[in-house]
Amino acid sequence: MPYTEDRSAWYEGQGLWQHIPANDWNDWIWQLKNRITSVAQLEEHMTLTADEKAGCLFASQKLALAITPYFFNLIDRNDPNCPIRKQVIPRGGEAVMSEEEMLDSLGEDAHSPVPGLVHRYPDRVLFLVTDRCAAYCRYCTRSRLVSNAQDYNFHPEHEQGLKYIEEHPEIRDVLLSGGDPLLLSDKKLDYLLGRLRAIKHVEFIRLGSRIPVFLPQRITPELCEIFKKHGPIWLSIHTNHPKEATAELRAACERLSFAGVPLGNQSVLLKGINDDADVMKALVHRLLRMRVRPYYIYQMDLITGGAHFKVDVRKGIEIIRALRGHTTGYAVPQYVIDAPGGGGKVPINPDYVEKITDTEVVFRNYEGQQFRYPLTNTPIPAPAEGELVEASGREAPLLD
Ligand SMILES: *Cc1c(COP(=O)(O)O)cnc(C)c1O
Repeated sequence: MPYTEDRSAWYEGQGLWQHIPANDWNDWIWQLKNRITSVAQLEEHMTLTADEKAGCLFASQKLALAITPYFFNLIDRNDPNCPIRKQVIPRGGEAVMSEEEMLDSLGEDAHSPVPGLVHRYPDRVLFLVTDRCAAYCRYCTRSRLVSNAQDYNFHPEHEQGLKYIEEHPEIRDVLLSGGDPLLLSDKKLDYLLGRLRAIKHVEFIRLGSRIPVFLPQRITPELCEIFKKHGPIWLSIHTNHPKEATAELRAACERLSFAGVPLGNQSVLLKGINDDADVMKALVHRLLRMRVRPYYIYQMDLITGGAHFKVDVRKGIEIIRALRGHTTGYAVPQYVIDAPGGGGKVPINPDYVEKITDTEVVFRNYEGQQFRYPLTNTPIPAPAEGELVEASGREAPLLD
């Protein structure tokens, strides 16, 4: 059945927390303090399936359970297949290991010159500035270090990272991630962005954050001032399903946009959540309406206990095929596989080109119609004297 939604409706409100004063609800510290972090708290609000209970028991050894009240409201508590529920409530599948899976599936530790800094591409670095998030995605790429549930002992070394960047003039782009960089205090962010801005060779600074989605209350006017001060700062949010595009998220994106922060979105292709062209189309349309440009769709990394989320790559290609040409070009993200072991992001595209020879390219459009583009240039003989028609040489008036 095709996915349908009320395109004019934007979810908003306090849901289960009607009794809380709006001042508290809109305070990001209140949201963090009142996160749901245990099975007992979950069960106060909903009935867990046996599979979810098993997952929750295992979670404490793998990746902590945490859900903000704001995000919890988006869960359909009567539907075990709710796409929001599956993202944040553990399931038994997390304890199932496969041979193909790895703790550090992107080989990040091997590419870390100093703790918390990944230098994989020649001109840019990934700077992991914290190991904490507002809520934990059950398919997290960095569950080995995030939330401190495993014995990883992650200690972000901001000064060491800054020093490394200062000493490497080839680094022109710094991506702050984690964990979620927006969990740092305003003071710390102001300091870090100021230090990075002061490095002459750093041209481009960006953040990867799911805070706007889990905790839109964090996007305060004060935070936006910091982005303005050190701008341009680019930011990628992380949504997977149109249900996440709420009135609160839209308002947070507006505050960021008005502070001059260009916004992108990264999605992970997840089984039973967004492995469907209609769902993805609804999501990317909502993103554009929130001033967010869809950037990447990721094939899920080969993380341990992730098999229950894994989608066939052919499905991902089919989704891109269903978007390209069928909707606004700005709405079409790039589908990538982050190469296992640490090869970087590699684009995975539908094939439109059928043949390239010295004389032509043969390709199909989004409707499957075949076209040819000649690479040859066959001159047409110039017109004989007297056959030339005199052009007026005058442009028509520009304005009436
Ligand atoms: C994703 C990533 C980047 C940024 O890649 P872009 O394609 O430029 O967005 C940089 N470094 C690492 C290690 C990454 O995983």
